[in-house]
Amino acid sequence: MRAIIMGAGIGGLSLALLLAKKGFEVLVLEKLNQPGGRARWFKVGEFSFDMGPSWYLMPEIFNSFFHEAGESSYPITEVEPKVKIIKGKPLEREHESITFVSDLSNEDGPLEQYLLDTGYLYKVALNRFLYKELTLIDFLDRELILALKKFPILYTLDQFNRMYFKTDIMLKSMGFSSVFLGGSPYNIPAFYSIVNYAIFGKGVYYPKGGFAGYVTNLFELCRKTGVEFKFGFNISKIKINGNKVNCVGNDERCVEGDIFISNMDYHYTESVLPYDFRNVNYWSNKKVSPSAILAYIGAEGSINVPHHTVVINGEWRSHFDSIDNGMLPDLNNMSYYVSYRKATDDTLEGKDLVFLIPISPNENITHNQAINYVNFVIKDFKEKTNSNFEIKYLRVYTPADFKTDYNAYRGTAFGLAHTLTQTGPFRPPMQNKKLKNLYYVGQYTQPGIGVPMVTLSSMILYRKIVEE
Ligand SMILES: Cc1cc2nc3c(=O)[nH]c(=O)nc-3n(C[C@H](O)[C@H](O)[C@H](O)COP(=O)(O)OP(=O)(O)OC[C@H]3O[C@@H](n4cnc5c(N)ncnc54)[C@H](O)[C@@H]3O)c2cc1C
Repeated sequence: MRAIIMGAGIGGLSLALLLAKKGFEVLVLEKLNQPGGRARWFKVGEFSFDMGPSWYLMPEIFNSFFHEAGESSYPITEVEPKVKIIKGKPLEREHESITFVSDLSNEDGPLEQYLLDTGYLYKVALNRFLYKELTLIDFLDRELILALKKFPILYTLDQFNRMYFKTDIMLKSMGFSSVFLGGSPYNIPAFYSIVNYAIFGKGVYYPKGGFAGYVTNLFELCRKTGVEFKFGFNISKIKINGNKVNCVGNDERCVEGDIFISNMDYHYTESVLPYDFRNVNYWSNKKVSPSAILAYIGAEGSINVPHHTVVINGEWRSHFDSIDNGMLPDLNNMSYYVSYRKATDDTLEGKDLVFLIPISPNENITHNQAINYVNFVIKDFKEKTNSNFEIKYLRVYTPADFKTDYNAYRGTAFGLAHTLTQTGPFRPPMQNKKLKNLYYVGQYTQPGIGVPMVTLSSMILYRKIVEE
């Protein structure tokens, strides 16, 4: 059986490995010149950058993936401290902050209770739901009904967090993870407090060599198992014969196979299907995740932060509103995240900083506008953290880059947001309804966004394909 996988993101690579281990002949076609998709990397002189993910969460999911593939788990180290949250006014040194460490044994009160409650839900999710493609019938599950009886399912994450926390800084500390899910604490369901359990209860990890190391390992395992790769292969056509896909490719070449799996952005995949097979109306009322302005900075000098820092300036609700309303954020009310890997990984040659400013999905923001935002946050960051460094290298990445590089719908960074109506069985299906040999893997399908979820999507789809 010949499987053609379109895209070498984490979803495509993970599925390729599982199928190849099962004896499938696997060919991966990738538009870019390297594997990893949004989790790819680059190196310039002494500086190296993970372009996307920096938080390695839910290690048990990766363990079960490697177990299923018959391989050893990838080495990771725990990040200590987990994260620092800084809250203040832009460009002012004065601020309030909280640093979360791994040892929560001295914690009591709300956080302890919060982790007990979200930990319970986390276990239910892992044991009953995250490893399968959910249908509405799954909501009749007895354990889920019991869990939900105790749980305010219709609350937003923010409403849920307010049941435990009173201080503004704790509400923000338990709210920022919503951005990982492509939403805000005001629009993602309380159920996703399980991500807070993953961070504050289970721990934050760092894969050896960063995500570059993780992807390189996955890619090498694929090659060792016989997976074939073609890089620089842009798919712009999916050809149909009856109710099956016949071949995928472009004007020059169309590659045949028995089954076809798209790891490309879902909307883009639809756009290259023959017109009658596109679900034209589906996307018009869907909520896509924010995009981001990213700055990859090679720095020399002092940097006084842990690996993960979240800076919240001014009114953070106003920043989320700007994302919802398709506006650019106002500099006075703008939050951002900074990854500083050298705090964990002293094998890195240079000091790389990655700044991430969430913005509304909008490919029209210009490079110059993005640079203004970047200059502003660098200044603010230096002021707040008392860091003093020179910039030796700077690359700014915008929503237009997400569109050009990954064919991302409206330049979204994370795909489809995890609102209540876009969760579980309401996410796009893993198998095309009309074309039975066309499947989808990755962050658009179930369970959703993030490297652990995408890894799960490969495991779910693998079982589905093998069962069929
Ligand atoms: C800035 C950023 C930070 C993030 N941080 C975290 C984090 O800390 N932790 C975490 O767990 N997750 C994080 N995520 C999310 C995580 O990176 C993604 O959910 C995950 O990597 C998506 O994997 P995927 O396989 O679904 O898709 P992608 O990585 O998007 O892979 C799709 C692949 O398809 C290819 N493709 C597209 N069009 C074509 C075409 N026409 N022909 C051939 N190939 C094509 C693309 O080039 C790409 O390689 C982050 C994402 C971003 C963008």
